Amino acid sequence: MIRVTCLGGAGSVTGSCYLVESPNNQKILVDCGMFQGGRQMEGRNKEAWGFDPKEIETLFLTHAHIDHSGRIPKLVKDGFIGRIITSPPTAELCEIMLLDAAHIQEMDAEWQTRKNKRQAGTDVTPLYTTEDAEASLKLLHPMERDQIITVEPGVKARLRNAGHILGSSILELWVEDGGDALKIVFSGDLGKKEQLIVKDPHEIFNADYLFVESTYGNRRHRTFEESKQELVEAIHYSVSAGEKIIIPAFAVERTQELLYILGEFLRDGLIPNIPIYLDSPLAIKATEIFRKNKKYYDEEARAIVDSGYDPFGMPNLRFTPSTRDSMAINEASGSAIVIAGSGMCTAGRIKHHLKHNLWRPGASIVIVGFQAKGTTGRQIVDGAKQVKIFRENVAVRAKVFTIGGFSAHADQGDLLEWVSHFESNPKVFVVHGEAVASTALAEKIQEKLHLITHIPVWKERLILKSRELMAEELPVEEEIPDVKTAMLNTIIDLENELKALRKKVKSAEVEKVMGDEEIDRLKYIQDELKSVFGS
Ligand SMILES: [Zn+2]
Repeated sequence: MIRVTCLGGAGSVTGSCYLVESPNNQKILVDCGMFQGGRQMEGRNKEAWGFDPKEIETLFLTHAHIDHSGRIPKLVKDGFIGRIITSPPTAELCEIMLLDAAHIQEMDAEWQTRKNKRQAGTDVTPLYTTEDAEASLKLLHPMERDQIITVEPGVKARLRNAGHILGSSILELWVEDGGDALKIVFSGDLGKKEQLIVKDPHEIFNADYLFVESTYGNRRHRTFEESKQELVEAIHYSVSAGEKIIIPAFAVERTQELLYILGEFLRDGLIPNIPIYLDSPLAIKATEIFRKNKKYYDEEARAIVDSGYDPFGMPNLRFTPSTRDSMAINEASGSAIVIAGSGMCTAGRIKHHLKHNLWRPGASIVIVGFQAKGTTGRQIVDGAKQVKIFRENVAVRAKVFTIGGFSAHADQGDLLEWVSHFESNPKVFVVHGEAVASTALAEKIQEKLHLITHIPVWKERLILKSRELMAEELPVEEEIPDVKTAMLNTIIDLENELKALRKKVKSAEVEKVMGDEEIDRLKYIQDELKSVFGS
């Protein structure tokens, strides 16, 4: 009997982590990602693992994105000394990503400690430190894809190309159970066909159990050509107003795809020769890794290299690794394209660019990536009239362009097509999606492909045996303390918001101050309350 416990990336798109336990009690982990998006979700990062990290001998890492890799240093801090098997480009990308994540954790803890001191509170320790991240890097075991390896007695594995970001992999896992070997496939994050730079996802025909992602399980992306057209429009919109085009982008893959597309626009004369700033030290380093790893490019990207162009470089591209150079961007007048992190506008230099440009009519905010619930990026996409940046309310007067076609994720059609290649009628666990997305994909898989599906919830333990699907209920004791703190914090925030609004309502000039924005704010609070207490 094989057990798989969904410790993250179940009922959410972040925190990916699956524990596989073999009949011989071997424990294998698939991904160890960070939970992101709001205080409640992030609180999960501090919770107990639900297993002893010392007992894990192998961790498979599907790709370098932080929502799949970001808790590895914590795992190491808590005793993991096994090996991390992943593709060579993922290992290279992890070096920059995990050190960056550790730096963010350290800065956050320092800021929290300073804040607490003003209220006579205690010191806050970071989730992990640079030292923990450095120790994690020593455990990386890069392995080329497409070869079967014996991981432990009775456990074999193979990585296949997932076509999502450079180095991203699907995991095929064979685990012996009695006389049989059950095959479990974890899709990781899947890309779509014809995606820039990376090769198409590998088609797999065989599995007993399949764990498939569903980030965009309920959506169809617009075509790539339409999306390129929209990006050209966004650029022209702000160029004619003399304003900036701000693009929040994930440092890995999305940024390089944008550079690749902008290079194409410039070669084809579709956009004017305005400065393009890559304002993210992490993205600058990631771009260098992309430049080095030409072996993993698809045919089109290789053809560009062969014809003498750098697919990630152009004469008007400026890297701004230093804070001084970054700040100078906002002092410079005139149009420019600014690509900065973080991709969901929750941290990093993008917040400064939003603060300087969101309120400017004529500026453009171009959203090219998934925006999880609870993030500033999601509020902007959802049409908020103002958002809070550095504790300040900033009006949204810039034009927001949401361009879905650059997504590095397969959409509903791509996911269905990929699952349709399985000839062995696997049982399908739909994971890594918000509830609506997972449900929509599961329904389509049942309807079109006639496969049995199940959507596991967070911490659900699945029993995989003779292709029978069973779910064991777990006791709920472990959730209480952190959830309670998170709820209390949310209530305190909401009380403050309500106080401020009550003051406005009571004031003599109520007619003037209660505009659409305040009414939106009240609705937002109402939604927050519903999400905290359940509707
Ligand atoms: Zn990803």
